[in-house]
Amino acid sequence: METVGLVQPYQARKRYVCPGCHGVIEAGEGHLVVVPEHNPDLRRHWHRACWHRERRRRHGREA
Ligand SMILES: [Zn+2]
Repeated sequence: METVGLVQPYQARKRYVCPGCHGVIEAGEGHLVVVPEHNPDLRRHWHRACWHRERRRRHGREA
């Protein structure tokens, strides 16, 4: 599993590339940071909508 944190617009100081859609998350845009529980070096920044879609894809059948 992973820890999901909310990054508020004022905390977003850099642009990131979302691994879900490969689109840019602009600096100043609120988004999510997802940190794998057992591999914190692999933290990734996601658009909220992309992460929710990814979660459904990964965990949909378990729910
Ligand atoms: Zn995205």
